Amino acid sequence: MKQTITLLVCGLCFTFLSCAPEQPETLLNGRIIDLTYPFNEETIFWPTEERGFELEELHRGYTDAEYYYTAHRFCSAEHGGTHLDAPVHFYEERRELHEIPLEDLIGTGIVVDVTLQTEADRDYRVRVSDFQSWEALHGRIPDGAIVIIRTGWGQYWPDRESYLGTEIIGDEAIPELSFPGLHPDAAEWLVSNRNIRAIGIDTASIDYGKSEEFKSHVVLARENVPIFENVAYVDQLPSTGFTIIALPMKIEGGSGGPLRIVAVVG
Ligand SMILES: [Zn+2]
Repeated sequence: MKQTITLLVCGLCFTFLSCAPEQPETLLNGRIIDLTYPFNEETIFWPTEERGFELEELHRGYTDAEYYYTAHRFCSAEHGGTHLDAPVHFYEERRELHEIPLEDLIGTGIVVDVTLQTEADRDYRVRVSDFQSWEALHGRIPDGAIVIIRTGWGQYWPDRESYLGTEIIGDEAIPELSFPGLHPDAAEWLVSNRNIRAIGIDTASIDYGKSEEFKSHVVLARENVPIFENVAYVDQLPSTGFTIIALPMKIEGGSGGPLRIVAVVG
């Protein structure tokens, strides 16, 4: 009888273990770094967006029934602050925000650091050779990686003039935009030669400020690669050895939306 019980318990354990979802070890054993700017009146939006992040207080204080109650209403364009570009933002019939699989938003992160290059040229575009230099040091970009580009632009947030190149709001700001981004040739190389889940950058756009055709957006969107923009505090990340978890607000039909992105560093 005793033997029967032991076998039963072992059988249950085995069933439980084999059903448990596989999770990266860093999810359980790591330091969590928030890579998200707070949404507030300083949040940077694309200059053609006249309204920033708006938070309207609906109630703050004690109610007639004597319980405390606070509530707000917020209004925001999809593409401002730390946010995600859904593929449909730049390519017809690609995924809308709510359709992006969660598997594309959680994965092994790597940081490609181009701060030296952007110090010399604020309109620098990340090249294929920058990824090749990373690989020479760290090995091939892992399959399913989430690539984070570090330009060093986080040092300027939330000062619009230094971050975007202009503090003007409206169409006349567009020719004044000046910040680094990803070269379309490098975007094409990434999607053709490596298998990345998603890509993020610490500037307002994956295409550099002077872009007129947004070709890097188009290339990535074509391949259904989600893009994270205005990623915060990237300087706190190592080059490898961490997991990214990037969960946007689930706006049905959205072309993008506010993103809470964190790294778990093992
Ligand atoms: Zn965007």
